[in-house]
Amino acid sequence: MSYCVNCGVELDASAKKCVLCDTPVYNPKQQNEDAPTPYSDRVVLPPKVRRRFSAFLFSVILLLPNIVCLLIDLLVSKENGLYWAHFVNTASLMLWILFVLPFLFQKARTFVLILVDSLAILGYVYFFYHLFATREWFWSMALPLVVVLGVFACVTVEVFERKKPDWPVQAAVICFQIAVYAAVCAVALYLYFGTPLSLAIPVVIGACSLPVGGFFIYVKNSRRMRAWLSRRFFV
Ligand SMILES: [Zn+2]
Repeated sequence: MSYCVNCGVELDASAKKCVLCDTPVYNPKQQNEDAPTPYSDRVVLPPKVRRRFSAFLFSVILLLPNIVCLLIDLLVSKENGLYWAHFVNTASLMLWILFVLPFLFQKARTFVLILVDSLAILGYVYFFYHLFATREWFWSMALPLVVVLGVFACVTVEVFERKKPDWPVQAAVICFQIAVYAAVCAVALYLYFGTPLSLAIPVVIGACSLPVGGFFIYVKNSRRMRAWLSRRFFV
């Protein structure tokens, strides 16, 4: 029985290199040079997923309960017309845009998909606002919160895709954004309720996310820490 000298993983007796870290194996006692390798040499490629077919299948799965709900609602609550089915329908439409649409536009830029997703969420929220229009909560709270989150996500994804920063940098940027977004939420709640600006929640969230972000910056700059992390967590 042999072990990798670099990462310590147990190796097959005939292994020429470590399966985990690619370190070559030199076993002076190896008797049989022509022993069969532990893995097949034959490369089997998975069949290509037909994205349009998947989209069609998910659409049908999503459509059926919607039609059933629509029919039941129409038949049961005859006097009122549609009563509750549009809650199901609008939610399904949003889910379709979020999860099925990307199958159809696989070549679209990620930020475009996120933009469409943000608009879908905004439309769904507006639907509820339209039904329960009290105190203008859509314009002063929901709209800024969704728009800021959408802008954060679009810009972040686009910058990450163009610049391809290291993973610790990406993690740190996301941690800092969580802190900033918590502050934006506090301001939006303040604008909506008109109560004194309470920074307790963003301070608590920032106190959690900023040190984590700082840790990732440290990881970026410390070779030893990166090596330790890669040994422990294979990152
Ligand atoms: Zn190894």
